[in-house]
Formats: sequence, C-alpha cells, structure tokens
Amino acid sequence: MSRAFNFSAGPANLPTAVLAQAQSELLDWGGTGVSVMEMSHRSDAYTSIAHAAEQDLRDLLNIPDNYKVIFTQGGASLQFSAIPLNLLGKNRRADYLNTGIWSTKAIEEAQNYGNIHVVATGEDSHFTTVPAIDTWECRDNAAYFHYTPNETINGVEIMDIPSIGDVPLVADMSSTLLSRPIDVSRFGLIYAGAQKNIGPAGLTIIIIRDDLLDQCQDNIPSLLRYDRLAKADSMLNTPATYSWYLSGLVFKWLKEQGGLEQMREVNERKAKALYTAIDSSDFYANNIDVAYRSWMNIPFTLADTSLEKAFLQAAKKVGLMTLAGHRSVGGMRASIYNAMPEEGVHALVDFMREFEKEHTA
Ligand SMILES: *Cc1c(COP(=O)(O)O)cnc(C)c1O
Repeated sequence: MSRAFNFSAGPANLPTAVLAQAQSELLDWGGTGVSVMEMSHRSDAYTSIAHAAEQDLRDLLNIPDNYKVIFTQGGASLQFSAIPLNLLGKNRRADYLNTGIWSTKAIEEAQNYGNIHVVATGEDSHFTTVPAIDTWECRDNAAYFHYTPNETINGVEIMDIPSIGDVPLVADMSSTLLSRPIDVSRFGLIYAGAQKNIGPAGLTIIIIRDDLLDQCQDNIPSLLRYDRLAKADSMLNTPATYSWYLSGLVFKWLKEQGGLEQMREVNERKAKALYTAIDSSDFYANNIDVAYRSWMNIPFTLADTSLEKAFLQAAKKVGLMTLAGHRSVGGMRASIYNAMPEEGVHALVDFMREFEKEHTA
C-alpha cells in the first residue's frame, strides 16, 4: 500500500492513523458485531460515539458551557441560508465582510432572507488582501456580523478575530477550524463543513451561543432550526452517523498529537516552509498580501503558465496529488490541513525546486 500526499482542498486528506483505526473496526465496532455504519443512531453504542466526539471537540476548542454544538448536514453552503433564517427573526439586518469567493456566496444567499449590508469588500484587489478594519462600515444595530476567516479558494486568512463591538460574530471556519486554538467565547456562531479540516464530507458542525437560539424567522424547515437541532442533540432525524464517528476519531487523534497548540506550531511551520520556497524563487509566485496569507490553502502560480500541465503531471508521478487551483482562479493550490504531515510539505518543496531546475535554462 502506498499513500500519496494529497493536497486536495476538500474532501481533503485524513490522518492515515485514523483511517487505519476505522478500517480495523469497520466490520465490528467494540464487540457489537456490527459496523458503525449499520448502527441505529439511537442505540447506546452510537450514542456513546456521538457524545464522545462532542466532548472531545469541546475539549480541543475549549468550548464554553453556554454554547451548543450541533452536528448536521447540508454542508457549509446550506448554512449560508440557515444562518439568516435562524438569526434574523427579530432584527432583519445583518452585516457581511466580503473577502473572497466563499464570502460572496454567503452574501448572495443571505440576501434572500434579510437586509444584508456589505461592510467592505476585497474585490478591487481581486481578493489578494483584506480591507483595513477601520474602513469597515459596520452597523451597530445589525443582528450579526458574518465573515470568512479563511478563504479556501483565494488563500486569504484573517489571523486576528476582529473587534467590532457588541454585534455577534458569525464565522465560516470550514477550512480553518481546528488548525489552531481560537477563543470561542468571542463568537456568536461558528460553522464548518467537515470535509476540509475535520473529517469526511456529509457532516456540518455548528457552535452557537445559546442566547442566539431564539431569533428564528417564522416557518423555516425544522431541520434548519438550531433550537430544535440543539434540543434533540442533533438527532432530530438520522444524522450523518459515519462522518460523525470518523470526525470523532480525528478529534481523538488531535488530542494525541498534543491538541491545537501543537497543531498551531506544526501548521505555522508547514505554511512557512512553502511560502519561503515560493518567495525565494522567480519561477513561482503567491500574490496574497503577506499579512493575510492562509496557513491552510496556499495558491501559487508558475511564471510560465504553459508549464502548468507538466507541473501537475510530474507532481502526480511522485505521489503529490491534487495541486491544481480552483477552477475559478486557475494556477496551483496546495491545501495543507492538519492531516498533511510536514514531510508532505517538504516533499512538495523538494519537487518544486527540482521542477524549477529542470525547466530553467
Ligand atoms: C468548502 C467551503 C464551503 C462550502 O462547503 P460545502 O460543505 O461544500 O457546502 C463554504 N465555505 C468555505 C470557507 C469552504 O471552504
């Protein structure tokens, strides 16, 4: 068996140790004689799996007791509508920061459900930087402020949690949650699709401060209602049981690695190694404002774009997979989430140097 280094943005690579554990208990979980996939979500066995996963996530992120954790489906994209539907029932105003392709989608969807104001946009810079916070036109009477801490496609990350007063912060952390410690208490709501830095596709995680559970718009689908999902322990209907279980294994693995402080150190080193390789060469480039360069998703271009195909093919040959940029922006992109080992980044850097040598006269 050989495992490639997979730089996919999502569904992304998972820790090999986690997949091996899942494999070892695939047919018979814990002496039950059945696979986790075959269990009733209401069984004692599955309930213990679900609760352990939630507790481990709470431990990793230090989630305060006044926050609910919801395990649901539909991806981060369904939350683009669920958030305004749940939070704009009393006050229809919401503010959004536009930092890239995912924020833009969140804004477009929210506009169907309320009075949405874009406080600032990075569009003029082609989303290579984030407008300075003192230029944001925030409304202090908004029901919430939404932003995307890590723009997965553009490779733009806001490192510090913005201070914008008392308006609850809502953050799409799909591609950054668990990459480092965060102060959950600064947020009203955090959400993430699992398939980037958490687990397999099919699971969406929502962390919500409990005072925001009574702001719901009328007549919205029960399965989108945070208050009902929370009250039912995320089991209003059948959850994505296997994705939830596998994410739980990832949480345990993260604890074994030393938790999120340790991930922060490793992730910072990985990102630095790759940016240094890009910046020290005229053959490669990353044009994102250095202050906002993502640790998780690193887009880069080749000075000679006609070599892109050859680059991808040669990389694949040596086991470096899925390095093509998003179809909307082109170029290359290396996604280096928690599950990407440092040796994977070193292998990529070595390959990039080799490829450059071979293609410069
Ligand atoms: C991938 C991604 C999404 C969309 O996720 P789905 O689960 O496919 O809906 C939304 N926001 C960000 C930041 C993402 O990286």
